[in-house]
Amino acid sequence: MSLTVKILLGMAAGLAAGVLLKAVVDPGGDLYQVLVNGVFDAGGQLFIRSLTLLVVPLVLVSLVCGAAGLGASGHMGALGVKTLVLYLTTTAVAITLALVIALLVGPGKGVHMGEMQTYESAPAPSIKDTLIDIVPKNPVASMAEGKMLQIITFALLLGIAISRAGEHGVRLRRWFEDANEVLMVLINLLVRLAPLGVFCLIAKLFSTLGWEEIRKLIEYFFTVAAVLLLHVSVVYPSLLVLLGRVHPMMFFRKMREPMIVAFSTSSSGATIPVTMRTVEQRLGVSNNVTSFVVPLGATINMDGTAIMQGVATVFIAQFYGIDLTFVQCVTVILTATLASIGTAAVPSAGLVMLAMVLTQVGLPVEGIALIIGVDRLLDMMRTAVNVSGDATVAVVVARSEGQFDETVFNTRTEDLLADASETR
Ligand code: ASP
Repeated sequence: MSLTVKILLGMAAGLAAGVLLKAVVDPGGDLYQVLVNGVFDAGGQLFIRSLTLLVVPLVLVSLVCGAAGLGASGHMGALGVKTLVLYLTTTAVAITLALVIALLVGPGKGVHMGEMQTYESAPAPSIKDTLIDIVPKNPVASMAEGKMLQIITFALLLGIAISRAGEHGVRLRRWFEDANEVLMVLINLLVRLAPLGVFCLIAKLFSTLGWEEIRKLIEYFFTVAAVLLLHVSVVYPSLLVLLGRVHPMMFFRKMREPMIVAFSTSSSGATIPVTMRTVEQRLGVSNNVTSFVVPLGATINMDGTAIMQGVATVFIAQFYGIDLTFVQCVTVILTATLASIGTAAVPSAGLVMLAMVLTQVGLPVEGIALIIGVDRLLDMMRTAVNVSGDATVAVVVARSEGQFDETVFNTRTEDLLADASETR
């Protein structure tokens, strides 16, 4: 049985276990406590940790290799510009789609909330601070704190220097390449835990989920879900066909694994190792491109998050009876696109940045309290979209740079695995 099938089974079993527990076991009882807050919680946290522990070393090592290779070939600038343009454009398209559909549907009209939760907004960083923060003061501190954009900047600079340092660079590059191979083996080992980890995360979620909130906010919930679906089923396939010249069905079949891990962990950051593994080993994107495009995308490209922010802004405006002007809509598109750069790739980070978007257009930040109740499930869905957006751009950029192996892309995962074990 392939790992993807096992992960899917883990997800289905987790869903069944969670729903069953909620229905038959008393939430105050010992059994519930031991299972939900004990076993499932510990299992889920261990899985997320086992992925997160790989992120910093993997991004550093793999990006140094990538940048050293690209620096030597002189392709770095073109690759960087293409990637950034694609990331910003897809996010702007996502949020425009969200605004248009939300304005048509009107999910916030006539909603009456009973007792509202309160929301204390954490101060969102300004755009200026976000941009300055890209350059690290101390790369070791950036790594210790897991500051992704700073690690990316340092790794890129180091990689470029390696490509220009002659014989010394060659020696150091070989060391990084060896470390990269070893880390890939480690990912392949740890990812085997995914079926169990996904089971625990989903079981815990479904045994604690408040369906009441979702019922109250059903229109908001389904508007966000519908726009996410539209983006994944129209925008990405169009890019894949028109610019990547590949079949979207094959792409999504192979992306099941990272998408499920993103869905269950709600963190594109924690999913980086699984996304990189899929993009490089199954979608046929070269290591040079994968190592640059995927970690950067996980950090700055959040189409799903932007979609939630677009719908949420319209919802909150309608709830308070405020009509958004055209200028306000354009402001939302610009701020949410820039905000996605500063949104951390962790659960619920999108809500923090929503505060920034709301402030820019003069809407009450407390409005976030309205949607908190349903954000958990939407966070899972949008994170899966965020991750598939990164992989789409990786394929398109790799194709345009001649760094794409079409045979690997078109070979079924099972056959790729069979080939790999034969060579071994
Ligand atoms: N959880 C999202 C991610 O990691 C960010 C967010 O929208 O909250 O991609």
